[in-house]
Amino acid sequence: MDTIYFDNNATTKPLEEVVEAMKPFWVDAYANPSSVHQFGQSVKHAIECAREQVAALIHATPGEIVFTSSGTESINLAIRGALAMVPAKRKFVTTAVEHAAVLRLSEVLEREGYEIVVVGVNRDGQVDEQAWVEALSGDTVLASIQHANNETGVMMDVNRLAALAQEKGVAVHVDAVQTVGKVEVDVATWPVQFVSFSAHKFHGPKGAGGLYVRRRTRLKPLIVGGSQERELRAGTENTASIVGMGVAAACCGATMAETATRVGALRDQLERELLKSVAGASVHGVKANRVYNTSNISFENLEAEAILILLSEAGIYASSGAACSSGSLQPSHVLQAMGIEEHVAHGAIRFSLSRYSSEAEVASVVERLPGLLARLSRLGSR
Ligand code: PLP
Repeated sequence: MDTIYFDNNATTKPLEEVVEAMKPFWVDAYANPSSVHQFGQSVKHAIECAREQVAALIHATPGEIVFTSSGTESINLAIRGALAMVPAKRKFVTTAVEHAAVLRLSEVLEREGYEIVVVGVNRDGQVDEQAWVEALSGDTVLASIQHANNETGVMMDVNRLAALAQEKGVAVHVDAVQTVGKVEVDVATWPVQFVSFSAHKFHGPKGAGGLYVRRRTRLKPLIVGGSQERELRAGTENTASIVGMGVAAACCGATMAETATRVGALRDQLERELLKSVAGASVHGVKANRVYNTSNISFENLEAEAILILLSEAGIYASSGAACSSGSLQPSHVLQAMGIEEHVAHGAIRFSLSRYSSEAEVASVVERLPGLLARLSRLGSR
């Protein structure tokens, strides 16, 4: 049975070009890039090529890119590193729909004595501008916003929100893990200091992420030791993954517009057909600007976990934002923040497509899902 992978916001299939480019660095090109001999320097050169490729993707200069292990590490480095540079001020502002990498860190910071303000969103998942401006008052050092939400695909107006922060002298970090490599990210025009991204979300390997740090922005490292990454991230580089990220950046950059058009049409078709064939289905964030590959659809009065199990048995891989805690299913914090009613939020499924998705796959889901849902309804899933 052919499986259908519609879980690309969780992770993506590495491109063949990426895998091929990485192979030599596991086999022959194993030298330490910090070694002064020619062997080491050739590996160092490969890392610097990757830095150029990644910088080009987001319109940065190579010197503004710090390689890390993941989006999560980049986010921790930006937030902790920026706050640590201004010890006299202790306020951090973010939004209610951020990824756990931001929200869990905020909770830790709060326990460490920081004042944390979490700004809410409207029903379309967008930040209330007035609340944002009010939150930025006082001793705010840094604000962190998502470019796109991983569960709904809803995009924030980074230019606008960051400009409002800039007016108040507040530095801005953008979690662009769900957009870099998928949509145009132009850090040269964004009034922000830090942007996080992650290779495995754009057909690169796991184990490589990056942080854009605007030139002349001060940042304290999380990991100290050797002088790698301009002393902002010590530790011998994960050469193969960094090289793979560079190739993924180049490939995704070159095909971005075409992928957006094709995958966007598939996503729209999936939504159109499911809304037509399933009574009580609704799409979250539909009025907002969304990343073209993501669809978060609720099937009223059904339980997402149960739907996902049936889908998985049918070879269809999707996701939900629900988390199982102490035996009871909590609806996603994102849908809760958007004010989505519980009986709707509980039945939310995220379908996230990629350049590997096909019309036949969409047709197959559209054909089989209504029957699976009807079966669940009869069983009384909730
Ligand atoms: N931020 C967002 C919006 C994400 O979707 C993810 C991953 O799902 C992360 C951060 C964390 O990235 P990583 O898996 O590379 O640590």
